[in-house]
Amino acid sequence: MSYRRSHKKSRDHRKKHSAKVQSELISLIHDNQESSIELKKNALSKLLALNRKHRLKMPKEVNLLFCKQCKKLRNVTNTRVRIKHGQTIISCLTCNFVKRLGGGPKFHRSDSNV
Ligand SMILES: [Zn+2]
Repeated sequence: MSYRRSHKKSRDHRKKHSAKVQSELISLIHDNQESSIELKKNALSKLLALNRKHRLKMPKEVNLLFCKQCKKLRNVTNTRVRIKHGQTIISCLTCNFVKRLGGGPKFHRSDSNV
């Protein structure tokens, strides 16, 4: 009985703690002034490991900051962003992974037959 209770307590504590660490790591990645590229890279890999271990959801704004396939932070040199038919297309130049955002072609919206 006592074992069970203490187990649940530790699980609650773990959950709270992991959420706190996650927000700290995200603020590290978002920080533009002080943190170096190396630090951000480390923070990202730690964040991914943390999310895997504790089954946390990755916030949307962080999801766009790195490539899902090669786990690299996006910057000006390794990504290409194009807007085509109302869709944002983000392609990674290192691994050629393409991420599409938005609903796609909006041809059906126009009433006129052009
Ligand atoms: Zn990539």
